[in-house]
Amino acid sequence: MLYHSTRSEKASVDSAQAVLEGLAPDGGLYMPAEIPSFDWQNCLNGSSLDMSEKILSALLPDIPHMEQLVHRAYTGKFETETLTPTVPAGDFHILELFRGPTSAFKDVALSMLPQLLTAAKKAKGVQEDILILTATSGDTGKAALEGFHDVEGVRICVFYPYGGVSQVQRAQMVTQEGGNVAVCAVYGNFDDAQTGVKNIFAACQGRELPFRLSSANSINIGRLAPQIMYYFRAYRDLLDGGKIRLGDPVNFSVPTGNFGDILAGYLAKQLGLPVGTLICASNANNVLTDFIHTGTYNRMRPLLKTTSPSMDILVSSNLERLLYLLSGDTELVAGLMNRLNKEGAYTIPDALLAQIQKEFWAAYCDDSRAQEVMGRVYREFGYLCDPHTASGWAAAEDYVAQTGDRRPMVVLSTASPYKFPVAVLTAIGGDTSGSEFDQMARLSAITGVPIPKNLAGLQGKPERHTGVIEKDAMLDYVLHL
Ligand SMILES: *Cc1c(COP(=O)(O)O)cnc(C)c1O
Repeated sequence: MLYHSTRSEKASVDSAQAVLEGLAPDGGLYMPAEIPSFDWQNCLNGSSLDMSEKILSALLPDIPHMEQLVHRAYTGKFETETLTPTVPAGDFHILELFRGPTSAFKDVALSMLPQLLTAAKKAKGVQEDILILTATSGDTGKAALEGFHDVEGVRICVFYPYGGVSQVQRAQMVTQEGGNVAVCAVYGNFDDAQTGVKNIFAACQGRELPFRLSSANSINIGRLAPQIMYYFRAYRDLLDGGKIRLGDPVNFSVPTGNFGDILAGYLAKQLGLPVGTLICASNANNVLTDFIHTGTYNRMRPLLKTTSPSMDILVSSNLERLLYLLSGDTELVAGLMNRLNKEGAYTIPDALLAQIQKEFWAAYCDDSRAQEVMGRVYREFGYLCDPHTASGWAAAEDYVAQTGDRRPMVVLSTASPYKFPVAVLTAIGGDTSGSEFDQMARLSAITGVPIPKNLAGLQGKPERHTGVIEKDAMLDYVLHL
């Protein structure tokens, strides 16, 4: 199946090559030239692994043995057999995406991406190793390490800002086992680490190296496509629970940063799943809320630090894919992205905005509202959620209040509350003293919600990766891996 860039139809590649390359040569993102026809009803019949296999085979048909790849990616790695369970809370349904090996929703995609990447490499006859380079503000790094460790033909190197991640996030990364992993702190903030990684990519271009560089973030279609499954899973669970009948539309409220999580929902809809409105939930970094309300995307504003750090983003890369999907106009998309790059803002045509507003609704939630939501959802429904999930809940409430749309609502839950113990303890009125491990223990004692095994087991685990380097030394570090 042919893929081309969101910015030009000229350079087309097959789906295996698109996964292998990640980003298109013109800086655009790869998209299928056409969304394949898909038997969505049949897809609802199987297990979560069957669903994944069907969806991924349809979108990435040039990668063979998908069934085997899906089993390797997921079997035995998640807390539940369905991978992503849906549980009721008040009037809403919570789709729990954090039951994977690192307790973050990124596990769903980053368990699968290594399998897709190594299979694509084989299909394309690529001999040299792939080196995955990642800068992380916390969650992506560990999920990528967990997905890629000990995968043959691939190495992974993660940089994180020294002092810039939580105690638990640091412990998750520096204790990582595996012969093909490197983890290193960088003096500086997340942007410094991210810029350092971009500079390494630039410096390595055209150089003779013993490896090929690649990245684990959601610009790669191989990271995005595995996320479509959980929309089907949730729909099926509502069917099984008698909450809907086949064909009834369901609304989804999605905590969004890079627009990957919510775009997967739109792709599920394109494949036929009866998705109603997709609610784009942001934190105080509300670039997307403004965009969906006005049609102007403006990143020229300060990046705020919030209690939902995985959504602290000003440039939502995957929005480009939506603009392409709705307009079908690569020239338009190229122009808009060029303006974003040069001027920091762009405005889309009215007709395109109208199309977006037909499918999407948007709201944002600041830290104090997130606190209020976490406390109330816990007191009223006994459900403990993290600050990212709270923004999804708040947006869902706003949506129902303002539109009166009472169709079933699924709120995507993207992280375990134990990854953000201070914010959660504060919200439910608990004492926040001590280390993060003390806080986790206290949160569990108060609520009775068990600490995920992977987090509980971190304390006392040997630290293997304790290096810290200057940001100027990152290239050298990579060349000497
Ligand atoms: C990455 C992340 C998000 C946002 O997902 P996008 O794909 O960037 O939209 C939301 N919540 C958590 C906890 C995350 O780690």
